[in-house]
Amino acid sequence: MIVAIDGPSGTGKSSTSKAVAAKLGLSYLDTGAQYRAITWWMISNGVDVTDADAVANAAGKPVIVSGTDPARPTITVDGLDASGPIRTEEVTSKVSAVSAVPEVRTLITELQRSIARSAERGIVVEGRDIGTTVLPDADLKIFLTASPEARAARRSGELKGVDVHATKQALIKRDAADSSRKTSPLAKADDAVEVDTTELTLDQVIECVVTLVEE
Ligand code: C5P
Repeated sequence: MIVAIDGPSGTGKSSTSKAVAAKLGLSYLDTGAQYRAITWWMISNGVDVTDADAVANAAGKPVIVSGTDPARPTITVDGLDASGPIRTEEVTSKVSAVSAVPEVRTLITELQRSIARSAERGIVVEGRDIGTTVLPDADLKIFLTASPEARAARRSGELKGVDVHATKQALIKRDAADSSRKTSPLAKADDAVEVDTTELTLDQVIECVVTLVEE
């Protein structure tokens, strides 16, 4: 069973995907964490992320390893725990530029496919292009949406003390960059089920997805 969960930032993808995977005994993969990890490596190694050629040339250097237990997902870069550093504002503001580089996408997409293939009991994979590009044969594809206001409110709740207006502007900018890139942009697959989470609690979204898996 392969479940692809795509959508823009702040729609509840991570919380939903982890909970659905845990409930159904499946593995879990956060593909955004992998793009964040490669971005963190670029920054730490002095690569100018606005220089697509420099990013492309360095893309194969870091070794990124994702742990797929939904109760305790992990990510390491060259053996170092990256789970904290990949959530900084600097990484968040630079990740769209790095993830738009085709060489980065090719490498990360291959990594994602091999992780999905080796998940014996199945996997929930969350991202932006899972249903369209990474795993187009997924058994179930979900596309989560929510109003920009709801998404910004959720994000600022997670990042306590951050201004909602600034968060909303940053989310809109990142989604625009992710949706407009040439290689595998953020997009809903034709056969994905769209779930608008604006008026739903997290538990309701989880229940909705579990029901769709079990149908
Ligand atoms: O999901 P998260 O917000 O952590 O994703 C961070 C960034 O990684 C996204 O803004 C996007 O640029 C990139 N990404 C991507 N394709 C995916 C998952 C994430 O390009 N499948």
